[in-house]
Amino acid sequence: MGLIADELQDVSKLCERTIPGCRLVSCVQSLVRVEIRRTVTKTVVVCLQFPPNYPSEILLIELKSKTLSDLLLEKLTSVCEQEVKKYLGKPQILPLLKFIRSFIDENPLSCCYEEISIAKEKLLDLQGGRDELRLKQKSSSLVLKIYQGEYYLKTFIYVPEDYPAKPVVLQDFDTNFPQLFQRFCIGQSKEIARRCTEPPLNKKKSCEQFVPKPSLLQVLTFLGQFVKQTPNEKCQICKAACLPSNPEDVETNEDADEHVERVYCGHLFHQHCLLTYMKTPPFQGGKKCPSCAQKIYHDKWRVTEKIAEDRWAHQQARERELKEVTEFFNDL
Ligand SMILES: [Zn+2]
Ligand SMILES: [Zn+2]
Repeated sequence: MGLIADELQDVSKLCERTIPGCRLVSCVQSLVRVEIRRTVTKTVVVCLQFPPNYPSEILLIELKSKTLSDLLLEKLTSVCEQEVKKYLGKPQILPLLKFIRSFIDENPLSCCYEEISIAKEKLLDLQGGRDELRLKQKSSSLVLKIYQGEYYLKTFIYVPEDYPAKPVVLQDFDTNFPQLFQRFCIGQSKEIARRCTEPPLNKKKSCEQFVPKPSLLQVLTFLGQFVKQTPNEKCQICKAACLPSNPEDVETNEDADEHVERVYCGHLFHQHCLLTYMKTPPFQGGKKCPSCAQKIYHDKWRVTEKIAEDRWAHQQARERELKEVTEFFNDL
């Protein structure tokens, strides 16, 4: 009995002093309860009980957290049980608490463990495929590589210390999708991450208090869909694929007929298909995307319904005049 009493005394004297972020909640024979906190999200409550033959047996360990996933806690518990076996016959509590603290420090990605598991299981073609999602705990980032046909996207995704309050950040973005697609992909990823962590810009909608949401899985989902679906996307007018199967054959001249444009709704069009569609009637109600019926909007063609109609009428009139002139000459 004296052994346990001595250890409890050591724990209450030393744990908060020697382990950063440690708070002793309870330190009695029936239960030792300690909170270890690095950030709000990276917080674990450790509950320990002495087995009948302590210290010849290992401590009974239970880990709790409001933010870390159950699966992670389950795995961490079994790692802890392995660790304390090294201290059989000796005091186990302080070495165990130190071990948990260093686990939290050395595994910053533990705060998005569940998101990573879902992404690995559902989003990417990791088994047998070429896709990759690797964890780099040292730099608190993930290495993501996604492939579809000849197209690829590679990027580091940095998870900040105060995640999920701060959004994930894409770094060293590398892809062979054309420029227009790269800009869209990076812009959308940033916007998705921003919406997870910042209240809506529209104040009316933000009456309730805004709570930041984890952004990693949402960004991974978008990137996965982007790479897998874009090479097969079709022009909404002529229904031909917008991207060539070989990325080297992409039309880079922005004025070329086969150049691809993305309009506001996100659908793709060949430049010449879109121009023809925009310039021919009917104009009533504005031009809508043939697939999703959203109004077509693009910086390049800020043409109102009225102007388009006037232009069309003007062109028709010119054609009539020309025809009249031609007929006039023919009659001569
Ligand atoms: Zn087309
Ligand atoms: Zn559309």
